[in-house]
Amino acid sequence: MYSQHSIAGHRRSPRPTAEMTYGLACTMCGRDLRAPADKPAPDAVPVGHVEERQTFACRGVCARLASGSADGIAEEPVSLEERIAAFPKA
Ligand SMILES: [Zn+2]
Repeated sequence: MYSQHSIAGHRRSPRPTAEMTYGLACTMCGRDLRAPADKPAPDAVPVGHVEERQTFACRGVCARLASGSADGIAEEPVSLEERIAAFPKA
């Protein structure tokens, strides 16, 4: 289980980060979904769309908050590699 580390400032509409809109961070808790080289990727599921790209959240609590289902929306997820490739390099 992943405990939500405090985004809980109760801002009315937290601005999603670029990583969130490109599916590289959980839209609910902000966890980075890109795996370090020595670790498996976190289990994330698609939960919605921003600008025609899928957005993702951690499977479970985050996904349920974001989409109403712990398994996210019923869509084939865009692969992490593709999401990383689409993300504009700073
Ligand atoms: Zn999360």
